Amino acid sequence: MSHFTVIGLGRFGITTSLELIRLGHTVTGVDSNPKIVEKYVDHLTQSIVCDASDLSALHEIDILASDVVVVAIGSDMQASLMTVLALQDIGAKTIWVKSNTKAHQTIVSKLGVAKIIHPEEDMGIHVAQSLNYPMVEDYIAMGNGIYVVTLHISPNLAGQTLGTVLLDAFNDVHPMALKRHHEIITPLNHESVLHAHDKLLLVADHLKLKSIANAFT
Ligand code: ADP
Repeated sequence: MSHFTVIGLGRFGITTSLELIRLGHTVTGVDSNPKIVEKYVDHLTQSIVCDASDLSALHEIDILASDVVVVAIGSDMQASLMTVLALQDIGAKTIWVKSNTKAHQTIVSKLGVAKIIHPEEDMGIHVAQSLNYPMVEDYIAMGNGIYVVTLHISPNLAGQTLGTVLLDAFNDVHPMALKRHHEIITPLNHESVLHAHDKLLLVADHLKLKSIANAFT
């Protein structure tokens, strides 16, 4: 379990906070708007009204207790940048910043924060890549063109083995596990039989992934 502080409880900040809570972490939510803080007081571990761009106000929060501080102030670039500087002054361990514009991103990257999040861009890329490979239900990009992907097994593949579906690509795409209802089936081999609506988890480079696309449509 980790402790997070999320500054700015707009749509992005609160969604991130509630998901972290759901995953079993503790979250201090901070916003300069008392109405917003009040709204989430029962849902977060702690919620604080504070103008985070004001260093003396930020000192009131136990920032050093947080493993990661997420700055999710959306449209007010100056407030976001001042908050990052104040957090660095206090000595926050790890800072993640949501950036809305290219200019914001450029400045934040010069400040040397651990991660810059671009929700709209990231989601756009995610959607485009899913559309590019319609059989891919979900994926995680590991960098260097390597992906962990979940493929949906359509009913027309039911009863076939992984060996007959993947043929020579079997060793290239590293089938890891099949999820069937609540069951995880692993390890997999050429004889593993597919059922309709299984989810197949594999790790592959995008070119290898492309080469098996036809087998799953
Ligand atoms: P989103 O796009 O995620 O909805 P918004 O810009 O709408 O982002 O929301 C950002 C939140 O950050 C708002 O709730 C706003 O009150 C809060 N906020 C703005 N400036 C500060 C600040 N200086 N300190 C703390 N919270 C702030």
